[in-house]
Amino acid sequence: SKISTADIRRDFLDFFASKGHTIVPSAPLVPGNDPTLLFTNSGMVQFKDVFLGAEKRSYVRAVDVQRCLRAGGKHNDLDSVGYTARHHTFFEMLGNWSFGDYFKKDAIAWAWELLTQVWKLPAERLLVTVYHTDDEAFELWRDMIGLPEERIVRIGDNKGAPYASDNFWQMADTGPCGPCTEIFYDHGAHIAGGPPGSPDEDGDRFIEIWNLVFMQFDRAADGTLSKLPAPCVDTGMGLERLTAILQHVHTNYEIDLFQALIKKAAELTHTSDLDNKSLRVIADHIRASAFLIVDGVLPSNEGRGYVLRRIIRRALRHGWMLGVREPFFHKLVPTLDALMGEAYPVLREGRATAERALKAEEERFAETLDSGMRIFNEVAAKSNGTIPGADAFRLYDTYGFPLDLTQDMARERGMSVDVAGFDAAMAKQKETARAAGKFGGGTVLPAELVAQLTPTKFLGYDSLTAGGLEVIA
Ligand code: ATP
Ligand code: MG
Ligand code: MG
Ligand code: MG
Repeated sequence: SKISTADIRRDFLDFFASKGHTIVPSAPLVPGNDPTLLFTNSGMVQFKDVFLGAEKRSYVRAVDVQRCLRAGGKHNDLDSVGYTARHHTFFEMLGNWSFGDYFKKDAIAWAWELLTQVWKLPAERLLVTVYHTDDEAFELWRDMIGLPEERIVRIGDNKGAPYASDNFWQMADTGPCGPCTEIFYDHGAHIAGGPPGSPDEDGDRFIEIWNLVFMQFDRAADGTLSKLPAPCVDTGMGLERLTAILQHVHTNYEIDLFQALIKKAAELTHTSDLDNKSLRVIADHIRASAFLIVDGVLPSNEGRGYVLRRIIRRALRHGWMLGVREPFFHKLVPTLDALMGEAYPVLREGRATAERALKAEEERFAETLDSGMRIFNEVAAKSNGTIPGADAFRLYDTYGFPLDLTQDMARERGMSVDVAGFDAAMAKQKETARAAGKFGGGTVLPAELVAQLTPTKFLGYDSLTAGGLEVIA
């Protein structure tokens, strides 16, 4: 029988535990140590202070499976969901860590051993990138591993380059940083897309699975690099992408875990085509929504809560497109719990809260979703490629359609939204409200639900790039 997502999680932890790594639990999606960061978007977030030397741990080697969210904020994959084979909002990142202990040689050797010996991936399907000046990594891949030179691609730091790849990682404008090497899997010539470093690298043929970051420099405020006394290793591998390969499917949505969610979503929405894009989006979004709630976020009109609201409302709109007119989304939580509750006790414990919060949000949006859709369809039918800003604002203000939801609907029709017009309408309304002495916003959830959850602090988007994390790219 085929290897399951749960088997793969366990294999990863076992493998690195056998190499002297301490198993560390996943941190919450809301970073506890960094109020400038919107969400935990990679495994390194919980170790940030260890890299900076501000925090000491009892171990120098760690391994973990970190729940991550890339929606809103600097790393935002929300608009890729449903469009690529490989992007989620919520995903799990497998990581192994060296805090001043082993470095490039062991990190590369173990990654290769795990992929090709434990999981038996065919070596000829794998190729790697290295930072263009990192001869050490290049030589390890060529001489130690025996990878042919043509499958070791040197990638620059992407300054002005037309490609997305960037093999130099830094936590922030100053501090620990260094080159990375990434491992890609070739799903085969029948799928569109070029190798990393090529102009069509963004396709889904060559899929990036594992990023190994070698933190070896300290960047000063004037930009100069000096060597770190104790270089560190930070790796991240997407569990869903790896599972797709090991289960011999192409997209993440075809793996066991997603198929179970998709089947349940299909049943709840009376949809027969399991490849329907809306089902994929719904399956992705239930994970993000439920985990955000159990990690202490509730739908609201600002900050993290608004990211959650946007994700939920996108899912509900997809349900609407499938013909659903009643709350259905919260009914996916028990299935999600059955699939992931064992690996994430926080989900099992918070399951009832997640169901109630989602149901409340569904009931709330149900009051305006149908009329909003009717209005959008009318406006779209008479618009010439662009949804006017005033209409997008009316959808937002009166019908609770976040701007990105309207943009997503427009994109499906090959249209766009006049964002400047939307902003102008918003500014005008704020001015009117101020003049009248009114206050907007306010939470829509029952007070006792709010009381059950720990409030989270978020200091604003502005500080994200300045002081916040610059995550592996
Ligand atoms: P991509 O180039 O495919 O967008 P990335 O370079 O942004 O990936 P990293 O920041 O290097 O990704 O994260 C480490 C690993 O986490 C990736 O190699 C990939 O396996 C996984 N990963 C990253 N983003 C996502 C996502 N949105 N959904 C699922 N897995 C992801
Ligand atoms: Mg990467
Ligand atoms: Mg990448
Ligand atoms: Mg990315």
